[in-house]
Amino acid sequence: MEVTSLAKAGDRCVGVKTSEDETLSGPTRRATAGCWTFAVEGGRALRAHAPVRGQMVALRHAGKLIRRVLRSERGYIVPRDHATPQKLVAGSTLENAGYEKAVTSGGLEQILARRE
Ligand SMILES: Cc1cc2nc3c(=O)[nH]c(=O)nc-3n(C[C@H](O)[C@H](O)[C@H](O)COP(=O)(O)OP(=O)(O)OC[C@H]3O[C@@H](n4cnc5c(N)ncnc54)[C@H](O)[C@@H]3O)c2cc1C
Repeated sequence: MEVTSLAKAGDRCVGVKTSEDETLSGPTRRATAGCWTFAVEGGRALRAHAPVRGQMVALRHAGKLIRRVLRSERGYIVPRDHATPQKLVAGSTLENAGYEKAVTSGGLEQILARRE
């Protein structure tokens, strides 16, 4: 079910209208559509964040097990399991790429170049 627009009483937002032609309301209302809040009719008036693309790289690690998230100014590495080889993800880029979700060779290169 998709929220299509804000339900209003005068200037006040009292709920939302949905793709199933329902109006939902409640005692409190909060915008939770993230950067897509702008796409909801009436949502431009709400405070929302802009989209940011963060690419990550999945790796297999055959060395000593990594048991916690490692962070430095070069980025971070997150262990995804405790197997050998171990699944890791390394990140990330932080790009103003609009709503583009594609992974790029430039993004992967940027992350992998941080290992030195
Ligand atoms: C690279 C990167 C790394 C990050 N790392 C961290 C981290 O380690 N820790 C952390 O706390 N935060 C992290 N963040 C930030 C975090 O991802 C965001 O702050 C968080 O996802 C925002 O949550 P949200 O619920 O506001 O929006 P979102 O997670 O974007 O959720 C919005 C939801 O609304 C749904 N939606 C959109 N439009 C509609 C509609 N019309 N009707 C119904 N549903 C709709 C969407 O499908 C989505 O499920 C990171 C961000 C980036 C880019």
